[in-house]
Amino acid sequence: MSKKYNIAVIPGDGIGPEITTAAVEVLEAAASRQGIEIFIKELKAGGAAIDSFGIPLPQETIESARNSDAVLLGAVGGPKWDDVEPEIRPEKALLGLRSGLGLYANIRPVVVYDELKDASPLKNPGNIDFVIVRELTGGIYFGKNGGYQSGDHLPDGTVKGKVVFDTESYSEGEINRILKIAFDLAMKRRKKLTLVDKANVLVTSRMWRSLASQMSFDYPEVEFDCLYIDNAAMQLISRPSSFDVIVTSNLFGDILSDEAGQIAGSIGMLPSASIGAPGTPGLFEPIHGSAPDIAGQNKSNPMGSILSAAMMMRIMFGEEQVASDIENAVKKTLEKGLRTSDITFIGEENNFTLVGTKEITEAIIANL
Ligand code: NAD
Repeated sequence: MSKKYNIAVIPGDGIGPEITTAAVEVLEAAASRQGIEIFIKELKAGGAAIDSFGIPLPQETIESARNSDAVLLGAVGGPKWDDVEPEIRPEKALLGLRSGLGLYANIRPVVVYDELKDASPLKNPGNIDFVIVRELTGGIYFGKNGGYQSGDHLPDGTVKGKVVFDTESYSEGEINRILKIAFDLAMKRRKKLTLVDKANVLVTSRMWRSLASQMSFDYPEVEFDCLYIDNAAMQLISRPSSFDVIVTSNLFGDILSDEAGQIAGSIGMLPSASIGAPGTPGLFEPIHGSAPDIAGQNKSNPMGSILSAAMMMRIMFGEEQVASDIENAVKKTLEKGLRTSDITFIGEENNFTLVGTKEITEAIIANL
């Protein structure tokens, strides 16, 4: 009997529908070659759901997503919904999906293809191929916060006035489960893991470091090291090709993963995965937003979404062949000189053919 996977597709807004359509076409073509059937259920979230139901994340969307094997998301938001009430903004759908599906690990691979090295702001980017594993549901973004009025004085005599605070808090369980994902991932890659923290200052970081060091004994093949966040931000620029897997907290991961995205140059090429406990559906999406400025013009780069579908096949279902077929087809398409407008470079005009979303998708399918 052939294998079947139920995928919930949430196209969202702006370029979301065009890039997810492209990703589904490529996924279906690659999967069918391996005798795998893909069933798609389309769901609404973001601005599209506000227009239809008045809220960004309808119950039907979250329930159907929960009942699927995995979720493919385009992007949400756009100027049309900029003035809606803060509690029903399109972006609320993302937070609701993450918490509703219990997605605690964000995995963002950063690869710079040879053909796109000019897109990197680094002069000699080298062979960049690393992954950031970011804790997604704990830490300072979810800790206790608040404020109070103080009549006290600072040492120089200044009155304190209003005092505000955020709290970073992590449990052993939260840290261990994400560390395990990172060590397991390192085992499947070049077997190097770097923990990024601020253990010279923060007690939470010291617990991350201690738990990671303990876990490293279970993975003797993995070369494990630690970097302070400030140093890591520099090293990512000065020696990006030496990293393999980086694991870090929510706050540090938020910042580092944007820095890493910039190293790769093009926002349109980068996929991501958010995963939770084994057996729960993961969420796969490109890192960019809904790009309303180019929506509906056949100009968007669908490769971030297509590569997200490849990640889904590898991470959720262990379908390595389908995943690598898709990734190789993308690579081949770039090698043949096809480019969408976001990945064209001045002075290189003779080396590429500018094509639209549909054309590059057809080429990727032909190159499978
Ligand atoms: P954006 O990523 O949508 O766009 C930034 C720039 O990159 C734009 O010039 C856009 O045209 C270009 N771009 C992005 N993706 C591209 C692609 N695949 N191909 C070609 N060009 C691409 O960021 P923004 O403009 O800051 O945000 C637009 C909307 O998207 C906002 O409403 C924002 O809140 C939302 N957003 C959503 C997500 C998400 O759904 N995960 C993430 C970020 C932003």
